[in-house]
Amino acid sequence: MSADPPQGKRWEDLVWQKHRYNERTVIKSGSYLVSYCPHCGQSLIVDDMIRLQTVTADGREGWVEFSPYLNVFDRRSDIRLGEGDEVADLCCCHCRASLREPDQACGLGHPRVARVLVGISTIRVPFFFCMHVGCVWHRIDPDDEHRIILDDSLEW
Ligand SMILES: [Zn+2]
Ligand SMILES: [Zn+2]
Repeated sequence: MSADPPQGKRWEDLVWQKHRYNERTVIKSGSYLVSYCPHCGQSLIVDDMIRLQTVTADGREGWVEFSPYLNVFDRRSDIRLGEGDEVADLCCCHCRASLREPDQACGLGHPRVARVLVGISTIRVPFFFCMHVGCVWHRIDPDDEHRIILDDSLEW
């Protein structure tokens, strides 16, 4: 089993912000999202990046890494991914299961969205992001967003 995240990257260290208008608790940009595979539960963080297997639309296989910091869009890969390309699939680097979420579409109109779990407080919540290279669309499942607010009001 993997050890606890390094100091400074535990959920307790995330910075939380109350939204002024609806009292929703949101995760602040720059928060470190500890990410897990929804299928095998293993951490997807390798060398401080979220590392995933990828297959391009024209069948090339490789890996791609994303920054785990919310709203930091660093990305690197061992295959050439042009801005505006859409990868055909993203898979867990441990169990190779597809992370594509068939019933979701990107809020900016792209058809393919992937899902990982991020650890927040004591729960892991679905985090969706677009598979269109260069698109920054992402969201946390609204139901869980609601639960985070309840947890917040009970625990703090
Ligand atoms: Zn997995
Ligand atoms: Zn998109």
